[in-house]
This record gives sequence, structure tokens and C-alpha cells, in this order.
Amino acid sequence: METYRIPETNLAGLHEQIAKLNKRATKLKVTPVRLVVDHWETVEGTYTGPFGDTIPYTARYCHLSIVGTTPKLQGWTFTAVIQPTEAGNLVKLVPGTVENVPHWFYEAKMTCDHCKMDRQRNEVFVLHHEGGGWAQVGRTCIQDFLGGVSPERLLNEASYLMDSGSLMREAEDEGWGRGSGGWVEPTEPTEVYVSTCAAFARFEGFVSKAQSQLPGGGDPTSARAWMWLNPSKHDRDEIAWLKANGFAVEERDITLAGKAIAWAQALTNVETNNFLSNLKVSASRTIVDGKSIGLMAALVGAYMREVEREELRRKERETMKPSAYVGEVGQRLTLPQLTITNVRTFDSDYGVRTMVKLIDPDGNQFTWWTGYAPDWVEQGEVVTIKATVKKFEEYRGIKGTVITRAAIV
Ligand SMILES: [Zn+2]
Repeated sequence: METYRIPETNLAGLHEQIAKLNKRATKLKVTPVRLVVDHWETVEGTYTGPFGDTIPYTARYCHLSIVGTTPKLQGWTFTAVIQPTEAGNLVKLVPGTVENVPHWFYEAKMTCDHCKMDRQRNEVFVLHHEGGGWAQVGRTCIQDFLGGVSPERLLNEASYLMDSGSLMREAEDEGWGRGSGGWVEPTEPTEVYVSTCAAFARFEGFVSKAQSQLPGGGDPTSARAWMWLNPSKHDRDEIAWLKANGFAVEERDITLAGKAIAWAQALTNVETNNFLSNLKVSASRTIVDGKSIGLMAALVGAYMREVEREELRRKERETMKPSAYVGEVGQRLTLPQLTITNVRTFDSDYGVRTMVKLIDPDGNQFTWWTGYAPDWVEQGEVVTIKATVKKFEEYRGIKGTVITRAAIV
């Protein structure tokens, strides 16, 4: 069951909106949805105030799920709608039905399993049978597919749950409820929109939906970028302030956006991850519209986190000193804090041989050949030993010291 994380401040508004939606339920002969509280979460922390002072805060979030009627008929549950775009399929799940749909639906053609006709369709429905089967069916075939039973209630229930689901998603956003009236379906070229998100992320820090919910968190980056590209007259002062303070979409933002889009387009093995899959499809489109405006702002954050992780991995590789030879051949040494990294036993004509690989805190590698290994030899153990240097050898460009007559100290 999908749960939503709603900031306490949005809770009253959400109940109001759900009540409005539920009025429609009666007309559609659909059971109204209920919000069920799973648990409360309290976040305590500090943020930096306008004068550099540290201000403590407590934020509360309610984790909720939607309970409605599962859209089910003749054993078939309505689980998702597939919308083709020029760049691939967007898969919109029906809340409360399944965790995800099988991966092949992400690449499915808009065919119908009932009439077998492959024609231009704006959407197909994914149905899941309680016996385990899956089917994709076009709108006009649903009734026949279900053995003549009118699918009206089924479709109503599914679209009703999806509306509730997107309402919940929106209510997770701190900026929700502010100036959302008169919303016009936006379309922007993908590069322009993502570049603007990147510019705001650079100028004032990336603010995700979750972060925007914290006191002092400000509006999410998606809302800032949208305002910049489509300012209303209420935004005039804000735009003027931004310009006066040197905000602009710069060359480096456009470069970052290009890299982020390319990164998302090249994501692989995303079939099992609904978010990454929709991210990839949205990034592959030439325009951003209402279907993908939130996803494409999230792209900037996701890409920046990826760059950060890659940077960490690079640093880790760099600070790891290369392995060097230790001591001199024939020398008896005390070697402190060696980690046993590998133990392998071989049967040979001369009896059992054990190879023990060790590494010291400076990254120097050791190999020790022995017969039956003593008790203290165990992979992962850290030991201090005495050993004699037998020889030095280089394997695949890595220098190693071969030791003999090792004994634990
Ligand atoms: Zn059909």
C-alpha cells in the first residue's frame, strides 16, 4: 500500500480537497475514498536564519494512505494506465492496487490483447487477474474483454483513485495550495526548463519537495523555475529582486542541464523502478508539460546527488595509496593491524596449501602460503603478526610482499 508523507500544515487543505473529490464519488457511483493515518513523524533540527543565527524547529508529517474500492471486476483489477510519449511509455499506477507492473509494459506497444489490433491509441489499460495473469486492453474493448459487463464503474473507480493519488502527491509539496488556482498546462522545451531549475539550484540551493516542507525551506526548485519562465503579475517584485541580485540562467547551468538530461536518457535497467523509468522517459522528451514538470525538477537533484557520489568514489580511489613493498628479503618484521582479505585452500600433490591475502592500514598487500591455516586465520579479521619477508612480486601492476613463517603476536 502506497503511503504519502503530508506536512501537518497541508493536512486541513488536503481533507478539504478530498471532501470535494468525494462529492463527485456519489455522482460516479463510486465508494468515496478515506484517508487512513499510518503514523506520525516528527523532525527536529535547526536552520540558519536570515542573520546567520541558528533557529531550532520541529516539523510534523503525517504518513497517510488512501483506502477506496479496489477497481476489480470479474477477477480483473485495473492497475495502471500506459501513456505513450514520443520518447517511450509513461506508466501511471493506480494507487492501492500493485507495487509495480511487470517490466514489459514499460516497452509495450499500444496493442490490445483483446482485439489484437495494433493501432494508434492514447492510452491502454493494464489489468491484473487474481489468478496471476496480466493483460493490456484498449478502452473500447474493455467491456467485451470482461465478458460484456459494463466497465464504467471499474474505469470510474480507477480514475478516481488516480485523481486521489495525484492530489496526495501534490499535497506532499510545501508550496501546495499557494497560487495553484488558474493553473494552465505548462509546456516548455526540456533543456530550457531543466537549465532554469539548475540555475535556481546553483543560486539558492536545490530545494526538493521534502526540503521545502521544513521551516525556512522556501519554495521547491520546480516552483521557482516555473515562476521565472511564466511569471504572473504577482511575481513582478520577486523577478525584479532576482535580476537585481544577479540571478540569470548561465552557460554552466545549460551545460549541467544537458549532462543531467543525457544521464537520465542513458539510465539502464530501470524497468523495476517506476520513478527512474518515468524519469528516463520524461528526459527523453523534447518538451516538459504537466505530466513531467515535477519529475524534471527532481532530475536536477537526482543528477547532482549522482555527481556527488561519483566524486566521493573518485576521492576514495585517489586517497587509497598504492600498495608498496615492505621490508627487505629475509627480514623478520612485526606487521601491525593487517586485515585478512582472502583465504583460499588448494589440494595439491604435496598436500593442502592455503593462500592468505592480507592488507595493512597503508594499503600494502601481503601474500602468505601455508599448509593448514591456524585458527586465527579468518577472512575479515584484523591481526598483528610476525613474519619473514620471502620475496617481492608484482601482479597486474600491484606490488605485493610474499611472507613466510607468520605467527600471531
Ligand atoms: Zn481491442
